Order: sequence, then C-alpha cells, then structure tokens
Amino acid sequence: RLKYPRPSKTRCIAVANQKGGVGKTTTAVNIAASLALAKLKVLVIDLDPQGNASTALGASHSSGEPSTYDVIEGRMSIAEVKQQSSAFPTLDIVPASIDLSGAELEIADMANRNNLLKTAVERFLESSKHHYDFVIVDCPPSLGLLVINAMCAVTEVMIPIQAEYYALEGLGQLIHTIGLVQDHFNPILTISTMLITMYDRRTLLSKQVYDEVEKHYPDILLHTTIPRSVRISEAPSFEKTVLEYDPRGLGAISYREAAYEIAKQSKRVLSELAKKQQGR
Ligand code: ADP
Ligand code: MG
Repeated sequence: RLKYPRPSKTRCIAVANQKGGVGKTTTAVNIAASLALAKLKVLVIDLDPQGNASTALGASHSSGEPSTYDVIEGRMSIAEVKQQSSAFPTLDIVPASIDLSGAELEIADMANRNNLLKTAVERFLESSKHHYDFVIVDCPPSLGLLVINAMCAVTEVMIPIQAEYYALEGLGQLIHTIGLVQDHFNPILTISTMLITMYDRRTLLSKQVYDEVEKHYPDILLHTTIPRSVRISEAPSFEKTVLEYDPRGLGAISYREAAYEIAKQSKRVLSELAKKQQGR
C-alpha cells in the first residue's frame, strides 16, 4: 500500500468547473475517500444545492436538515452541522440540501457576501480540536456567489476536465473568473490541479484532450486519468463511493492514484502558497 504524505498544513481545495456533468462531484468524493482511506483527515463541504456529494457519501441531507445553507448564512457552525462518514472514519461531510438554492439570492445584498464560507471555515479550522489535512469543496456548476464563496474560502482550485470534444470550451471563462477572484478577494488562490475524467482509452479524442491540456498546463495536470466506467456512475445510487462499491476496479484504482499524486504535491504547493503569502 502506498504511503500518502500528510501535508504540513491544511490544504483547502475547491473542485470547480462551471460546466455540469464533468465529474466535479465524483472527483470530490472519490478523492476525499481515497485520502481518508490512507488515514488522512478530510472534510468535504458540499456547496451544490443538488447535494450529490452528500448522497454519495451517505450523509443525510433532507430539506431542513442542518447543512451548508445554515453555515453560509451564519446560523450554525461547521462543527455543528458536519456528519462523520460511516464508511471512512477520518472523513467528515458538511451536507448540502435543496435549501441552499435560495442562498445566493438571500446573501446577495450582504456586505461580506463573498466571504461567508471563508469565515466559517477559518473559524472551524482554528477552533477545531481536530486537525484536518484536506478540506475539499464540491462546487455547483455555475460561476455564481456560491462558487465565489468557495474560491474565497480555499487556497487551491482543482479543475476536472471531461475528455470530450468541447472539453476546453469554457475553461477560459473559468480561469478568467479565478483571475478576478485573485485580483479582488484572494490573491494567493492557485489552480493547483487539473484532472481528466471519463477518459476512454479506445478513442483518439481522449488522448487528444489529455495532450492539449498537458501542452498548456504541464505542471498541474495529473498524470493519472479517470476512466469512463459504469461502476463509477453506479456507485452514488448505492450511497457509496466507488472505493466501497468496486474497490478493485479501475475506477477506484485510478481515483486512489490521483489522490496519491495530489498528496505528493503537498510540499511544493504549500511552499508556493507560502511564497505568495509573503510576497503580498
Ligand atoms: P458534476 O459534479 O461536474 O456535475 P458528476 O460528478 O455529477 O459531475 O458526474 C456527472 C455524471 O457522470 C454522473 O452521473 C456521474 O455518475 C457520471 N460520471 C462521473 N465520472 C464518471 C466516470 N469516470 N465514468 C462514468 N461516469 C461518470
Ligand atoms: Mg456536481
């Protein structure tokens, strides 16, 4: 079994891409589960009103249940709403319910509307008895206020890219938005990771997408790709990650390998972040 290095500081990562269906949620939960399986302590924050990450991790998230909605609006702390994963003892989840769909409008006029999640995460990490190695935020498919909150609360963005024809369309818009957040709110925010999802070894197209992303982003693209796999897509309907549903399958193996790559980046990423912090 591989030894996943523990980061010297909490790494906070938003999994973002304004396109829907590219594998954000699947990536967030399976990377989180892989890190937790390696005994690292992980918090997943579900920031999508659809609550798919909550479902996949087996967290209860009916309307009215304490959730990210209450955290964003300052009614409850992360410590109060988090649930422990039943499958992975070192994995906690802040669930999202459909209630969160009202949040963007409700916070739109608040002066600190961009920093609501940041405030909650900072408070939690400072006060918590537990140390977390990773905080992973699963973003909704938009570039709205919730996603801005995610980007203000973290230091890293991870972008899953689906291996398909229009894969890179919209990437420019996403990177532009990240640039705006850097300029106005969070100067040290870094795109630390890109991951190709739904890779099909049989098609030339998948290889072309990988090569194209590698050409532009050689330093942050993970070497591991996530295969298109029926097992990966079936797992959530059993309220499971693919690590539990099909532990020996290629999907699980790939996500664990991708998580290993992410864990191995820690030293470099954290030292780059520290440099940016000092340079301000
Ligand atoms: P997003 O969060 O970006 O909207 P999801 O992670 O929910 O994307 O994935 C979209 C759909 O594709 C889901 O039904 C999911 O189960 C499926 N899916 C994700 N990754 C894979 C994969 N590697 N192989 C097959 N299906 C996948
Ligand atoms: Mg999603």
